[in-house]
Amino acid sequence: MQERIYLSPPHMSGNEMKYIQEAFDTNWIAPLGPNVDKFEEEICEYVGVDHALAISSGTAGIHLALKYYGVGPGDYVFCSDLTFAGSCNPILYQYANPVFIDSEPETWNMSPVALEKAFEWALKEHKLPKAVIIVDLYGQSADYDQLLPICKKYGVPVIEDAAEALGASYKGKKCGTFGDISIFSFNGNKIITTSGGGMVVSNDEAAIKKMRFWATQSREIAKHYEHKEVGYNYRMSNICAGIGRAQLQNLNKFIDNRKYIFEQYKIQLSTLPLVSMPINACGTPNFWLSVFIIDEGVKYTPEDIIEDLETENIESRPLWKPMHMQELFSEYPFFSHFDMEAVGDRLFRYGLCLPSGSSMNESQQNLIVKTIQEMLSPLN
Ligand SMILES: *Cc1c(COP(=O)(O)O)cnc(C)c1O
Repeated sequence: MQERIYLSPPHMSGNEMKYIQEAFDTNWIAPLGPNVDKFEEEICEYVGVDHALAISSGTAGIHLALKYYGVGPGDYVFCSDLTFAGSCNPILYQYANPVFIDSEPETWNMSPVALEKAFEWALKEHKLPKAVIIVDLYGQSADYDQLLPICKKYGVPVIEDAAEALGASYKGKKCGTFGDISIFSFNGNKIITTSGGGMVVSNDEAAIKKMRFWATQSREIAKHYEHKEVGYNYRMSNICAGIGRAQLQNLNKFIDNRKYIFEQYKIQLSTLPLVSMPINACGTPNFWLSVFIIDEGVKYTPEDIIEDLETENIESRPLWKPMHMQELFSEYPFFSHFDMEAVGDRLFRYGLCLPSGSSMNESQQNLIVKTIQEMLSPLN
């Protein structure tokens, strides 16, 4: 059996070991250290933001941001519905209530129409949210020119969940610059990885300073260990940050590779009853995952194709299962784009994520294409 083709495996470039070695040579085997400081600076420079805080995961970043906006028991937080649970689990950590907002068909990101409906409901019910979490899904920016004015009108801060979108941009500005606070993830499956890790970025210096304090067990300035507030152990290690620095140097190359892979799928699958994810003309995605939607009426479901690819030792997946369809979140309000079926439900029912790793070679991609062609070709 040929080597397994993963959905989005880590892609090491070579320099990672150099920075790890430096950490070993100087005995900085600790959370924090020179690689962490430099990685924060390099992310600021790349994204175009003033301040950054390297942390242990993207989820931890969302938690810190919610805490910064004062989210507590009984509060409300709006969040994109079609996303990974890491976007909204932190709302529950703070004993607050998520309110889920459907996708729009154009970008699959948060629908401005559904967002406005949710705000109208919240105003009437006296349940205005403390924050809105907007996700840049599968490496494509949300439509911020539509979304940000709505949040501003109601005076609610935006947390941009750019976990999947490092390097993507919208109207010339990088993802991660649209939230009042934004986060990235460097989990093993993301476009760059530190094995596990994340980054909070913002132009708000006071916000980053406060979150840095909480992420370091809220240690007051004192020789002895002095604490006045609850804290967390959320910082990134100096070893992981070394991996991140080398990965960041290769990010543009990784984006080019993933874009090429997406375009190859588009060309080679074009005669089959599938459509690729829409690319909004306002933005440049990082093409983190190549996602396709099977036409309605085709006799095969995404699960059939996933199983078929599995027989060739190829990993593929459905889309994220929308949060309002999850048992954990079923009791919370949900606002959909259309009055009929939610956009996210339909995408989940017919969608398929194909292997998209930047290290995938041509013969691997040809095997994936051939397997799908054999199944979906009109002659079969
Ligand atoms: C991966 C991901 C997260 C969580 O990041 P971790 O670093 O795994 O905690 C949050 N939101 C989205 C949209 C993600 O894809």
